[in-house]
Amino acid sequence: MTIHAKLKEIRTDIYIDGSWRPAKDGRTLPTFDPATGQELARVAVASAADVADAVDAARRAVKGAWRRMLPAERGRILMKAAGIIRRDSTKLSTVESLDSGKPLRESKGDVETTARYFEYYAGAVDKIQGDSLPLGIDNVGMTVVEPLGVTAHIIPWNYPLATTARGIAPALAAGCTAIVKPAEETPLTALMLAEILEEAGLPPGVYNVVPGPGEETGATLVAHPDVAHVTFTGSVETGRIVMKSAADHIASVTLELGGKSPLVVLDDADLDAAVEGALKAIYTNAGQVCAAGSRLVVEQGIAEAMMARLRQAAAGIKHGRGLDDAPMGPVASEVQLSRISGMVESARKRGVEVLVGGNAVKPEGLEGGWYYAPTILKCDDANDAIVKDEVFGPVLTVQVARDADHALELANGTDFGLVAAIYTADITKAMRFMRDIEAGQVFINHFFSSIEVPFGGVKHSGFGRERGLEALRAYSRVKGVTVRI
Ligand code: ADP
Repeated sequence: MTIHAKLKEIRTDIYIDGSWRPAKDGRTLPTFDPATGQELARVAVASAADVADAVDAARRAVKGAWRRMLPAERGRILMKAAGIIRRDSTKLSTVESLDSGKPLRESKGDVETTARYFEYYAGAVDKIQGDSLPLGIDNVGMTVVEPLGVTAHIIPWNYPLATTARGIAPALAAGCTAIVKPAEETPLTALMLAEILEEAGLPPGVYNVVPGPGEETGATLVAHPDVAHVTFTGSVETGRIVMKSAADHIASVTLELGGKSPLVVLDDADLDAAVEGALKAIYTNAGQVCAAGSRLVVEQGIAEAMMARLRQAAAGIKHGRGLDDAPMGPVASEVQLSRISGMVESARKRGVEVLVGGNAVKPEGLEGGWYYAPTILKCDDANDAIVKDEVFGPVLTVQVARDADHALELANGTDFGLVAAIYTADITKAMRFMRDIEAGQVFINHFFSSIEVPFGGVKHSGFGRERGLEALRAYSRVKGVTVRI
């Protein structure tokens, strides 16, 4: 089947209460292929009236069908969804690569991660339990764990499907219902997930999708008084707006706001492993990763060797379409490309040294598209904006540290604190770094996160934890019960 035939099969309407429908006011927005700049599809824009209907459906489902179903049965539906996601992996990954531009192998990885989220939380549904509390012989005390209610999920464009699953799988497992507002740049796979969940047996209203612009559809959803919790992944500025709006109706929030994550390499590190880790940390998904290792902090004895190896590897990375599984795909949008170019250009003007890259790229044989060269910048000023601000592109900064203590100081030197990595053979140095680094997750001698391990930030990277059993807490509340006997 051709790609265009495949695209025609995808539903581009709003999904509410188990049904598809166009926007009440009939509006649509285009979504583009970042590899070529061509329009891929037009997707409905959910109006305030559509959002209200979605919240209403989710509210009815959370009190009705989803609540009444036995936990084991809810778990079976989530497990079945994992199987269908794997069965449909080719279709899902193809569309994800088309819509986001990411290389096919990465989209396939995202689809597998998506299946794992459903599998993992499917197994947890019938193990969510409270405690018995010691109140003496004449009293019984217990906690009852309840779902929070209707949850809203505001999704970014860098991991459209996997981020949707990261939020909704634990939310549904906890007994909540969900409304997803995908990013306007990449709405297609969240819509495809609706059909999958329906096939798996999810009752109407448990999963709803309201595509549209963030400032309009997203803002309306977050502000809805019946939304009990908002899970937001995106920029710090938008996170602030979301948190303020949720505060108006006392909804809880999980904020995952990106980072400027350090990857520290000490002199005694395994150089091959550190180089491999650093390349993966910054060039996966063309650097458009909240947890990208975008700051290399390297101890002076190994700095020259590390920079030489990285420079050579970066210069050899070829660009192409995500669908052709190119080593590096395009960045997600024209806006993103000019943002990256602008940030690097200003850094260059301030005297930051460009070791490699530093320019937009036109891959051979491709018309249009938004590509940026793998870039490495050497920054001696720890306060330079390019060291402090998130670029969200294939741009690595390098800072040279005098010793392990200085490396830690540099690593902690931004407002962010999402993940941090250290490469060293010295267990004491590694564990001191683990203790003192301001980050939500620490990698020692690797750069890889897994769905079983809680993920989230400190400082401006946000708060609340996703993944692992921790994520269930965000979607649950505890009722204390005491009985005099
Ligand atoms: P970016 O600028 O990189 O797209 P954002 O943080 O603005 O990052 O976007 C992340 C998600 O937040 C997207 O789904 C976007 O539509 C949504 N969004 C943007 N503004 C708002 C808002 N005011 N309220 C709710 N969601 C929003």
